[in-house]
Amino acid sequence: MEPMRINKYLAQSGYASRREIDKLVENGDIKVNGNDVTPGQKVTDKDKIYIKGQLFEKPKSENKVYFLLNKPKGVLSASKDDRGRKTVTDLIDTKERLYPIGRLDADTEGAIILTNDGDIFNKVIHPKGEVYKEYFAIVKGEIRDKDLSKLAKGINLEDGQTLPAKTKILKRAQGRSEVIIAIREGKNRQVRRMFDAVKHPVVYLRREAIGKINLGNLELGKYRKLTSQEIKYLK
Ligand code: URA
Repeated sequence: MEPMRINKYLAQSGYASRREIDKLVENGDIKVNGNDVTPGQKVTDKDKIYIKGQLFEKPKSENKVYFLLNKPKGVLSASKDDRGRKTVTDLIDTKERLYPIGRLDADTEGAIILTNDGDIFNKVIHPKGEVYKEYFAIVKGEIRDKDLSKLAKGINLEDGQTLPAKTKILKRAQGRSEVIIAIREGKNRQVRRMFDAVKHPVVYLRREAIGKINLGNLELGKYRKLTSQEIKYLK
């Protein structure tokens, strides 16, 4: 979660109104990680907040929801956008406050999970996690097996070496190639940058699966609830 002012954080968690919380802060009744707080102090779920000496426990949302969306191109992977552009949460009809788990860049289509359950965040986006994200890519040029092995071994990008990936060629024809690539990390625009590094820029990219959770025949712009087995897998 993004750091949030302590009065907003506690108010949203249902503890008291912002004004009441400000009073507690002024009276020195709230401590964060053992220290006094200022009214503007920002906190996250990781901070230990003590109110009048008692550890504050954020109530868990009773109604946990989990969706898989087939994100169209041009839609942002964010909860909201300051500039009013369309985001993934705009495409889902729910009263719950959702956020996306991980990101797809605006130009990329495909599978993205949205939830109000903070506990599943780690498994999906952990950089060294075991969850492979599988992409279907159309790239320029007829890519050679040698380049596919380079991608599979790991590519030295400016922000570090990529972990071993899985690749599979589907088609080479008319100056284009269709490739399946599965990666475990989520560096910014990673798949595009990996193909750039072997001089086969991506012209189309779609995420097909996040671990065992597959797009299947979900139409572009549509979403479905995750099954209970899929939720169990993420926990
Ligand atoms: N790699 C990319 O290039 N873009 C994405 O959205 C995800 C992985």
